[in-house]
Amino acid sequence: MAAYDFDLGILGGGAAGLTVAAGAARLGVRTLVIEKEPHLGGDCLHYGCVPSKTLIHTAKVRHLMATAGKYGLPGADLPPVDFAKVSSRIREVIAAIQPHDSPERFCALGAQVEFGNAGFVDEHSVDLGGRRVSAARWLVATGSSAAIPDLPGLADVPYLTNREIFFLDELPASLLILGGGPIAVEMAQSFARLGSRVAVIQRSAQILSKEDPDLAGIVQQRLEAEGVVFHLGATLLSARRVGDQAEVRFRDASGQEQGVRADKLLVALGRRANLDGLGLDNAGVEHSARGIPVDDRMRSSRKHIFAAGDVTGRHQFTHAAGYEGGVVVANAVFRLPRRADYTWLPWCTYADPELASMGLNEKAAQKAGVEYRVWTEEFRANDRSLAEGYDFGVLKLLVDRKDKPLGVQICGPHAGELMAEWVAVAAGKVKLSTLAGAVHPYPTLAEISKRVAGDLLAPKIFSNTVRKGLGFFFDYKGRACTPGE
Ligand SMILES: Cc1cc2nc3c(=O)[nH]c(=O)nc-3n(C[C@H](O)[C@H](O)[C@H](O)COP(=O)(O)OP(=O)(O)OC[C@H]3O[C@@H](n4cnc5c(N)ncnc54)[C@H](O)[C@@H]3O)c2cc1C
Repeated sequence: MAAYDFDLGILGGGAAGLTVAAGAARLGVRTLVIEKEPHLGGDCLHYGCVPSKTLIHTAKVRHLMATAGKYGLPGADLPPVDFAKVSSRIREVIAAIQPHDSPERFCALGAQVEFGNAGFVDEHSVDLGGRRVSAARWLVATGSSAAIPDLPGLADVPYLTNREIFFLDELPASLLILGGGPIAVEMAQSFARLGSRVAVIQRSAQILSKEDPDLAGIVQQRLEAEGVVFHLGATLLSARRVGDQAEVRFRDASGQEQGVRADKLLVALGRRANLDGLGLDNAGVEHSARGIPVDDRMRSSRKHIFAAGDVTGRHQFTHAAGYEGGVVVANAVFRLPRRADYTWLPWCTYADPELASMGLNEKAAQKAGVEYRVWTEEFRANDRSLAEGYDFGVLKLLVDRKDKPLGVQICGPHAGELMAEWVAVAAGKVKLSTLAGAVHPYPTLAEISKRVAGDLLAPKIFSNTVRKGLGFFFDYKGRACTPGE
């Protein structure tokens, strides 16, 4: 067998790469991680999940202050937001997490970390700053970047992406966002809550187009109530700089041409796999503009070269990258044929209200031709939800003919946290009767999950047959009161 410098080489020190590095190194695999940025952690830590969730919380605190009257408190006259201080807190949170993703920690685990640009020169070797480094197996986990549309004039407008938006020196008086996906929605609400005038231009007729329209509609209504203006069903035409502002022209849903101007323009139109400079052709790895296609064992067209995370162009979430990293460890280290299964992959958009999904929603079930029934439970019937000011939102449970769960969507307060119970139900194949019978602390938002499961079982328990049977055996006399009599 050829001698390689490493057993496993990893390109990219983000969620997927570091999951594999930690697992492999601790199992005695001689592991090298190559990261092109000067720090580990990837987009999630530096330009994605962590800064966005920090910003969302800051914006929520300000929103609560601004709406204090709703909670019986004196109204507050708030001074404008100093965004430099907001950014500074974002940097602090990133810095607090960074040690977990440090080269020192990975060295302690047994993995070597190198910073620099690397690209394949052949199927087992990369060029790293003029040095050739070889490994028996490789993982490509280079993530993704904001996709920039081919929009006339855009190149001359100083637009922002997720790399810049969290680190502005000042709050823009107005912000125009291209796109209506999770990143666009989270940023739209956050900046509106901090005091920017926000407009969103979105191609499809609903925001969060993967979700069911009724739930996406709840999120949209809340954002509109907070001042966000949506232009849905729009076709982008051009962009240009007008003085210090950016203007985007588009054809609206009725076919009229319109223009929107704003101080800052955020491009959030989806993601593009990071493939530049990887030399994939030198290694014979198939790839397309979408990313690196992999089989369900995360193997590329070259079986010793794996790909995981955003670079595959599939499920672009940190927890998906981590899960896929586990599949890579099983296949590349243990040499076991473990396959990725996304049936119960959850995700969440962290707007307020949050919209969390797992399994099939109605859209997906209809597309797949799957027969389903829907059970819903409203947050306004949940005591804790009302206490906290949420008289809107809903949990939707899709079940099959045998009442087995097909999917759950939750649009409401802390929906992402509430989904954790359904993750356990799905992973443990827990029966809905067990969930309905399990005692939940009162008053909690989580009771909504117990309640929907109970509602589904209620027609069986409180059926005519059961009533008649009980009457027959115990001589019960039936209703004591009938409305209207
Ligand atoms: C604004 C925003 C908010 C998000 N919020 C969430 C959220 O709330 N929850 C969630 O689950 N997901 C969220 N995501 C998605 C999440 O960030 C990604 O799914 C996740 O980071 C993917 O992990 P990864 O390992 O594939 O890529 P990354 O974590 O980005 O890691 C890729 C690494 O590879 C490096 N790299 C690139 N090219 C090379 C090269 N040629 N050589 C060496 N290294 C290279 C990059 O510098 C990077 O460090 C968000 C994304 C954005 C943009």
